[in-house]
Amino acid sequence: MAQDDDTPETRLARLVLSLRSQGVTDPKVLRALEATPRQLFTPDLFQERAFEDSALPIACGQTISQPFIVGLMTQALKIEPRSRVLEIGTGSGYQTAILSKMARLVYTVERYRTLMAEAEARFKALELTNVITRFGDGGQGWPEQAPFDRIMVTAAAPDEPKALLSQLKPGGILVAPVGKGPVQVLKRYTADGQGGHTVEDLGEVRFVPLLDGVAREL
Ligand code: SAH
Repeated sequence: MAQDDDTPETRLARLVLSLRSQGVTDPKVLRALEATPRQLFTPDLFQERAFEDSALPIACGQTISQPFIVGLMTQALKIEPRSRVLEIGTGSGYQTAILSKMARLVYTVERYRTLMAEAEARFKALELTNVITRFGDGGQGWPEQAPFDRIMVTAAAPDEPKALLSQLKPGGILVAPVGKGPVQVLKRYTADGQGGHTVEDLGEVRFVPLLDGVAREL
């Protein structure tokens, strides 16, 4: 049973154990989850729910992803220590922080200035020096830094994300929720090195939509 006086470390360890029992079994992913204090990415209003396995609201009408989905998507990306990873949809920066523990460099793009500034402050406080941020429309990827070994999209692309797929290295992997409705299919694309790719369906997920352009509001 959860006790109110459990430390954040204990509560996080219990959450990570439950993710393992649900199929997040890659030891490197489990270590990264355990080393990332989710309460620091969770709004004040939801502090007591930071270690629940659920998505939570953040500023700008967006969400911090559900830990199980973060674990599943990170595992699906098959990150290697030398990987340069592009992430679209920084949001709270929680997923970014986990990627940064496993990859050489993480490039992350967000279309809300407020979210980007808050995430940058967290990366600084946690001394995540291998994260490079950009305020912009991630639907176009990051052409100046392409190609990437891995790409993770944490907002739902309406259709196959062609611009992003074109920024993958041969053998590279892209994981994204794809679909126009409230429920999407998590897809894994693997670049075949000849301009094509294979696609696998990894199950149903629910993400906020990938929107065109940067947000006009803060
Ligand atoms: N990984 C994040 C999830 C954030 S929700 C976390 O765990 O906190 C998805 C994010 O994608 C939102 O912050 C949203 O603003 C952002 N987003 C949506 N469309 C985008 C686009 N075209 N470019 C960049 N970011 C985008």
